[in-house]
Amino acid sequence: MSVPTREALAARDARDPLAPFRSRFVIADEGVLYLDGNSLGRLPAATPGFLAEVVGQEWGAGLVRSWSSWIDWTARLGDLLGTRLLGAGEGEVVLSDSTSVNLYKVASAALAASEPGRRTILYDGADFPTDRYLMQGLAAERGLTARGIEVPELEDALGDDVALVVLSLVDYRTAELLDMPRVTAMARHAGARVVWDLSHAAGVVDVRLAASGAELAVGCTYKYLNAGPGAPAFLYVRRDLQPELRQPIWGWFGQRDQFAMGPGYDPVAGIERFLVGTPPILSLAAVQPALETCVDAGIAEIRRKSVQQGELIIELADRWLGAHGISVASPRDPDRRGGHVCLRGPDTWQLCQALAEAGVICDFRAPDFLRLAPSPLYTRFVDVFDALDRLRTILERRDHLRFPAELSRVT
Ligand SMILES: *Cc1c(COP(=O)(O)O)cnc(C)c1O
Repeated sequence: MSVPTREALAARDARDPLAPFRSRFVIADEGVLYLDGNSLGRLPAATPGFLAEVVGQEWGAGLVRSWSSWIDWTARLGDLLGTRLLGAGEGEVVLSDSTSVNLYKVASAALAASEPGRRTILYDGADFPTDRYLMQGLAAERGLTARGIEVPELEDALGDDVALVVLSLVDYRTAELLDMPRVTAMARHAGARVVWDLSHAAGVVDVRLAASGAELAVGCTYKYLNAGPGAPAFLYVRRDLQPELRQPIWGWFGQRDQFAMGPGYDPVAGIERFLVGTPPILSLAAVQPALETCVDAGIAEIRRKSVQQGELIIELADRWLGAHGISVASPRDPDRRGGHVCLRGPDTWQLCQALAEAGVICDFRAPDFLRLAPSPLYTRFVDVFDALDRLRTILERRDHLRFPAELSRVT
């Protein structure tokens, strides 16, 4: 089978129901092919105006009176995200803190509620660093054991000593997508709870929290959800578990009758008991237009296009890059792959730098992973074609060998 031509892909873009969404983003330079939406999503076109309004009207003119509206934003935006993009019910998702802090709060609450004999935390030894470090820290704090495993070993590792399992739904390097219903059921059967990290799934994978039996989850909004650098993260706690789980940071935003300023901590029954302190309203404001854009497109449609763009990357990589020692390191089965595709091979850090010079922004993750992440809301099929074509040209000319092999501080 021959690879699709650029013309055929341009025709596909013309038919694409998500094509109009590209104009809902700021594309400052049409020459740049942005395949890094899993690291920092593009700026939605509605965001600057909305932020200006919040700053000028609500802060500038409304002053402290605006808190009567701001006070609900963490829950209101949590509901929008939870019900429309994550398959959760109302009152089960809230915006708060960073993913790291939310993982600490949720995992700590789950550990505090687990049976005393269960003294082990399992995590994916290849997970994103903060997830691993947090579990090591929680184990140190509570005198437990934290053990990094390989995901296929999970079933054997789940004994009656395991309290908690922490896993990413989509692996940040390989893009492997786990079977959330199966893994959750397996852990529950063994008496353990799972915290799912949805950072690389939210906004690109059709996550079905309720239907999967998931109990606890956390994740970022600045990746495929496009809410901006360092935007507030989210957390999910299934409704029936909320009253029995207590998070460790007893702040006044979790308090019942908050403005009664009562003497002792008595958290609300609902999801807001997982809040801590005053939310960053200006950052939170940027979450709203970002979520609305994804909701308007529909997560099923986003996922459908994401799968097709992944297939296209794999097809072109097999055809054009294999001879240069570059291979696809992501699952080929689309049901087992998230939104990005990972390539591996020699000199991938140098390739990443050469691509940047050629106008293709993607990223490198140690030791040799090159991640290509089309974001279906603003990446066209021709962009994927052009990016792979530029990569092929670099490899043919060996242009990348001019770049330093040493890593820089941020990759
Ligand atoms: C991006 C990412 C994070 C980031 O956490 P921060 O607290 O926002 O720095 C955490 N975990 C995973 C799996 C991620 O992909």
